[in-house]
Amino acid sequence: MRIIDHFIGGSAVSSGTRSSDVFDPNSGKVQARVTLGDAATLEQAVAAARKAQPGWAATNPQRRARVMFKFKELVEAEIDELARILSSEHGKVLADSKGDIQRGLEVIEFCCGIPHVLKGEYTHGAGPGIDIFAHRQPVGIGAGITPFNFPAMIPMWMAGVALATGNAFILKPSERDPTLPVRLGALFRAAGLPDGVFSVVNGDKEMVDAIIDHPDIAAISFVGSSDVAHYISSRGWANGKRVQAMGGAKNHAVIMPDADLDAVVRDLAGAAFGSAGERCMALPVVVPVGDATAAALRAKLLPAIAALRIGTSTDPDADYGPVVTAAHKARIESYIDMGVAEGAELVVDGRGYTLQGHEGGFFVGPSLFDHVKPTMQSYKDEIFGPVLQIVRAADFEEALRLPSEHQYGNGVAIFTRNGHAAREFAARVNVGMVGINVPIPVPVAYHSFGGWKRSAFGDIGQHGMEGVQFWTKRKTVTGRWPDGGVGDTASAFVIPTME
Ligand code: NAD
Repeated sequence: MRIIDHFIGGSAVSSGTRSSDVFDPNSGKVQARVTLGDAATLEQAVAAARKAQPGWAATNPQRRARVMFKFKELVEAEIDELARILSSEHGKVLADSKGDIQRGLEVIEFCCGIPHVLKGEYTHGAGPGIDIFAHRQPVGIGAGITPFNFPAMIPMWMAGVALATGNAFILKPSERDPTLPVRLGALFRAAGLPDGVFSVVNGDKEMVDAIIDHPDIAAISFVGSSDVAHYISSRGWANGKRVQAMGGAKNHAVIMPDADLDAVVRDLAGAAFGSAGERCMALPVVVPVGDATAAALRAKLLPAIAALRIGTSTDPDADYGPVVTAAHKARIESYIDMGVAEGAELVVDGRGYTLQGHEGGFFVGPSLFDHVKPTMQSYKDEIFGPVLQIVRAADFEEALRLPSEHQYGNGVAIFTRNGHAAREFAARVNVGMVGINVPIPVPVAYHSFGGWKRSAFGDIGQHGMEGVQFWTKRKTVTGRWPDGGVGDTASAFVIPTME
């Protein structure tokens, strides 16, 4: 059986007495075991980081940027193999895995320009002979705790900016698909990153708790489900750390009566069912405005759902593959049971789906619910599977209220030809990332990513300038060089002014 070790101080390290199965979701079989580290494992990674970080922070930013350029080249050269690894543990189709890697590389590209964003501020002559400069220094040692659903993109969101700004970074990836994140260690090393600056420790809650409580870890970036995000942020803040914690989502697509329904259905099919719905920016809720829109939309959705092709993650014709584990398949199906019990109309039932020749795989057929009500638990919770729920709204105001009042506020989209309605919606909706005729409004790397409400704990987003802000501390220096040298001024007993 293949064993997945940690990557610490530039090499593979075996540490920890427990392990966890890593499945091939296509067959349902165990394909590897990942060693779950403990506090002693983390200590090794922190010790390596402590040793390496000062030298890395003192390396000038353009040299750090060169490591990012080289890393990008190496990942691009291996992208087919990396996508294969990713798909084999996650279950998403190969083209989608390449997209996962590519979105991560876009953050690395942003990091290639890090000298430009670290230039800081300067005021010449803020007072008599007084100059002020402010610049950003790395926080020191940071940690990233990541979810299973983007095992390339999300580690790169965090590691790219943390490393380019001069930090050491310890990654704790999901124990469900850890092979690709561990591989990033070898790639950074080959790109010229000094040993110890980037480590990967595998584990579960025990490792996460060790990270939150470690006194030498200054900042934690988390992406995953909301209860865990809330736990990590509150305990991390209590320990005096900087924490950003992105949580779950339930994104709505509002369909105005004037929308181009053919385009909407094409967009919805991909955004609701792509990656088997296992995306925090998926669109699992659709809100048609008016019964005529709902009827027309439902009529067009049915053949589109019937045409969806489910296959293994290596099938080039598949629209989506299996979900990540048997437990997740069971959870999704239990939510379909719940929707039925709550009185929603199950129009397409994806329960009990099997793929011929792959009967042990974790496949879930597409499901469509209509007449879902905001009071239903199956609407309030994140299902994170190939399940689309229609919630009918009588008018624009009701459609605006639904995502605005939902516990999650990650993304939302409006489909319309009416610029005024789109503008009103974008301005008033209580959600962090808004798409206008764009189904998955994930900001590009030089903007910042992050939702509102229970989709994000902490104020600072991922990547872009907010990422730089998160991984650095501002230092402001006020200096005076009086004529004749220093130390020739009288004592001042009042607050100094610049007069
Ligand atoms: P998860 O919360 O189960 O796991 C995320 C990480 O936390 C993993 O590394 C895991 O080992 C660790 N973890 C799990 N349980 C823990 C516990 N009790 N205590 C401490 N650590 C724990 O999430 P997941 O199932 O891997 O990923 C799916 C979730 O992530 C969905 O809710 C999805 O919406 C969310 N997500 C959010 C974003 C975003 O940017 N908002 C992006 C991607 C995924």
